[in-house]
Amino acid sequence: MSSSVLAKARLDAVRAATTRQPRRFERPEALAVSEYFGVNTFGPAAMKEFLPRPIYRRLMETIEGGGELDREVAEAVAHGVKEWALGRGATHFTHWFQPMTGATAEKHDAFLDIDEAGAAIERLSGAMLLQGEPDASSFPSGGMRSTFEARGYTGWDPSSPMFIMDTDNGATLCIPSVFIGYHGEALDKKTPLLRSMEALSEAACALLAAAGEEGVDRVVPTLGCEQEYFLIDRAYYALRPDLAISSRTVVGAPPPKGQSLDDHYFGSIPGRVQAFMQEVEYELYKLGVPAKTRHNEVAPSQFEIACIFREANVAVDHNQLVMEILRRIALRHDFQVLLHEKPFAEVNGSGKHNNWSLADSRGENLLEPGASPHESLRFMAVLASVLLGVHRHAGLLRAAIASYRNDFRLGANEAPPAIISVFLGKTLSRIVDAIVAGDVVSGDAEAAMIELGVAKLPTLIKDNTDRNRTSPFAFTGNKFEFRAVGSSQNPAGAVTTLNTVVADGMRQLTAWIAEAGGGEAAVLDAVRRALTESSPVRFEGDGYSDAWVTEAERRGLPNLRKTPEALDELRRDEAIRLFADFGVYSPAELAARHQVRSEQYCTAVDIEVDLMRELALSTVAPAVLEERAALAESLGHMLALSARGVELDIGPEQSRLERLGALLGDLDGGVRELLAARGAAGEDPRAYSSAVLPALERVRATIDRLEGLVADGRWPLPKYREMLFMQS
Ligand code: ADP
Ligand code: MG
Repeated sequence: MSSSVLAKARLDAVRAATTRQPRRFERPEALAVSEYFGVNTFGPAAMKEFLPRPIYRRLMETIEGGGELDREVAEAVAHGVKEWALGRGATHFTHWFQPMTGATAEKHDAFLDIDEAGAAIERLSGAMLLQGEPDASSFPSGGMRSTFEARGYTGWDPSSPMFIMDTDNGATLCIPSVFIGYHGEALDKKTPLLRSMEALSEAACALLAAAGEEGVDRVVPTLGCEQEYFLIDRAYYALRPDLAISSRTVVGAPPPKGQSLDDHYFGSIPGRVQAFMQEVEYELYKLGVPAKTRHNEVAPSQFEIACIFREANVAVDHNQLVMEILRRIALRHDFQVLLHEKPFAEVNGSGKHNNWSLADSRGENLLEPGASPHESLRFMAVLASVLLGVHRHAGLLRAAIASYRNDFRLGANEAPPAIISVFLGKTLSRIVDAIVAGDVVSGDAEAAMIELGVAKLPTLIKDNTDRNRTSPFAFTGNKFEFRAVGSSQNPAGAVTTLNTVVADGMRQLTAWIAEAGGGEAAVLDAVRRALTESSPVRFEGDGYSDAWVTEAERRGLPNLRKTPEALDELRRDEAIRLFADFGVYSPAELAARHQVRSEQYCTAVDIEVDLMRELALSTVAPAVLEERAALAESLGHMLALSARGVELDIGPEQSRLERLGALLGDLDGGVRELLAARGAAGEDPRAYSSAVLPALERVRATIDRLEGLVADGRWPLPKYREMLFMQS
């Protein structure tokens, strides 16, 4: 294809993208959302209708209290859910699980079976509900599974409701599942998450008991995800192989009108996007996913959707569904959703703020500053545990959110830095400082709480506008917000680590309280000790500043800039001990994660190296050659004219031609260097990060310079300004 053909296709794409009309869809206008919310989930209402009473009760007991499901219950639930699903048009079922790839996986089986008489029937047995056996050999195991025992099992997780995925081409019953190996080793993200929730619950109950709190037998982490994403017109996407293959633009000059004008944030939502959002919400509501807020984000064509928080395990599943529905519904509106952390250079990237807190079995939020002095002390104990855990294991939190994609965003002065610190806000900081300074006497802990005014916190924090967007981990009134999580990441990884490090902090406080003989004075002392030890991790200033990098180093906080360094945290003895102690990852499971994620890192870069070579040589170079030929031709005409005595300044044309020639040389040389760097990197992630990536950047810089030189009508790839600003 001649590059002018591609350039014409680009201009056609601009026309298509700017003239589209919003798609209309059949929304049941007459119905309130509450009337169809969750119709496609096997939630309490459907369970009551399709399960015998005693079965329903026993299932709920298992869901609420954990523990094993017995065969009889499984059999009855299988029958009930099958009847329900058939009634809603489902023909297939699947164990829906989250392998270490980060995506969700499913293998569909039909309900269809043949009975003894040879007749077709629909069947779902208890055994089929409880366990599946997908061919596991193509999912990453990090060396935990040798091929002769390549079997992996999926097992129903009753704590997350089953649902029907209803697509244009049929409906499937999805059974949220864990994915484990032959010896019970976790091959997925859900198993460790569930284990970390158990560990945290145990540690939190023990802490509460030590703090004199009666009657709490379970504590669950709650999670609310704010999902950022970009939407670009499909016509552009079709012409950008880099978006299709790597989900980000590996080349592209920054737009003339950057986001500097900030006129997009919270601006009115474009009609076509609004139609898309409404259809997304409609689909999510049917799935029982409580999408709550939607708005424009900072960058052009960037948006956000946030759901109401749920128990962490359910919220993670909800976030998987949000990402899937966004992707699927976008196509219906001729959009492509980009979940990548940094799809466009020099334009804000996308994150997934993880709002996290703790709810106890009485329904209380343990991070809600209490009204009474006793509740205040409990709040301080929980807060101090979080700070202690985050401080002691900051490197692990960094590792939890490390990925090739997220590296483009972290520390880019638009997203939190790679240094993990905690922001508490002015009011709470003052209280913490006073405790650390010993300004309050521990003799009477309750009096100290009154003196400190902790009970006034809820109102004070609400009035407080001091929010710090530069902090990776911020207290926001009654929850923490882990902001460093990347937009395309499965939040399970971050939450698993967070749960574990907080459980560790709680265990330490509990031990200190016990050592000191218990009682409120001992609680306050333990709080003081934890707050003092974790002081370095508290930071209220500008996380984007260079001064913070220096200051953090002085404080001894890790600054793990890139993924390979961050992942190596998983190999430290402390990490291995921590995760093993809490039963979250066995040493082998942790090593497997290190291996899988290191490989994923190298693979992601590898793909971009091949992509860059192809773009450079087969898409960009031909356009530049055409440009050069055209320039040479016009220069020839000019020379002929001036030979006939016409006065012409050929200087600018000549230097343009020379610059094109020089850049073409750079392009060839750059690609050669890039391939050499990749060849030399072997399989070492650190070499990828230190040598291959800079080489990739150099080729990009050359191409971006060429974009500014080649005539607009000849450039083959949709430009930033088009993708970001020119769509209806
Ligand atoms: P903010 O303005 O601080 O971002 P929002 O009320 O808009 O707060 O909430 C942002 C996200 O935090 C939402 O997804 C919300 O459901 C979630 N959230 C609120 N309370 C909690 C909680 N106790 N635990 C976990 N997430 C929460
Ligand atoms: Mg927020």
